[in-house]
Amino acid sequence: IAPPVIKPIDRSKIYMLDLESTLHYILRIEVGKFKVLEGERLTALKNFVSVLAKYYPGQPVVRNFLHTIDVWLHWQQRKSVPYSSLEVALNSWKEGVLLPKKSVWVGCQGSEAHFRGFPCGLWILFHSLTVQAAQHNEYLQQKADPQEVLQAIRGYVKFFFGCRECATHFEQMAAASMYRVKSMDDAVLWFWNRHNRVNARLAGTASEDPQFPKIQWPPRDLCNPCHNEVQGDPVWNLGAILKFFKNHFALRNIVITSRN
Ligand code: FAD
Repeated sequence: IAPPVIKPIDRSKIYMLDLESTLHYILRIEVGKFKVLEGERLTALKNFVSVLAKYYPGQPVVRNFLHTIDVWLHWQQRKSVPYSSLEVALNSWKEGVLLPKKSVWVGCQGSEAHFRGFPCGLWILFHSLTVQAAQHNEYLQQKADPQEVLQAIRGYVKFFFGCRECATHFEQMAAASMYRVKSMDDAVLWFWNRHNRVNARLAGTASEDPQFPKIQWPPRDLCNPCHNEVQGDPVWNLGAILKFFKNHFALRNIVITSRN
């Protein structure tokens, strides 16, 4: 089999197609694995879709779509919702026109088919949600609760993320320290720091795409001021990291490309 053609990408950008492919994969594949949604899993889905409806940094038509799915889920008074009913709601939006009919990866493309893709898209989505929530909060008088976004993501990972080993590791990190996060800016930094811990754990293992080595991120060429030194030892400049994240995961840094 011929290796996939790697499209040239700019690593300083976020690609809308990665975010949309991730949404498609979440709604059609991961959630669709459960014929009936009920109990804590249904609550986790409602909470996650509600956060997507608030903070997903998408095109207006996709945000409207998420908003209606959120409202639809919240109107479901029954204790269990068959996935087929949710599917009808998704189909009524001609979702295939809004979102790709299958996942197409750009910034998350791997050098071979089994590398990167959805887990990469999921990280990008999670970072984007925390950054969007932090940016919304800067304009609000009544500050939103950072735990709302964090716990919604935690619930999604726990009840839906198909990589069960990843979900177990993530749940351990969440249980140990997520409750300590008290502000939206800290939520952004919590995700940055935990993602780097995962990178450190996985560096050099079989899940690493040799063309995308697992590094402590962001590298100097993306954010030089993020890297500091104290008495010769490397340290992160947290203020610079926050500033960098608010630019890197901002709406204006998302590239819209064709689906073909
Ligand atoms: P990813 O780590 O997926 O990162 C995607 C992109 O995000 C990178 O290309 C880079 O642009 C950017 N990035 C990198 N680091 C950071 C950072 N610190 N902050 C912000 N942006 C960053 N795989 C396992 O084998 N075992 C696990 O236990 C495991 N746990 C996971 C837990 C979660 C919640 C998720 C979403 C994934 C997990 N994975 C795990 C998958 C793994 O982390 C990678 O997503 C996968 O190997 C693909 O790697 P990647 O090269 O695309 O980079």
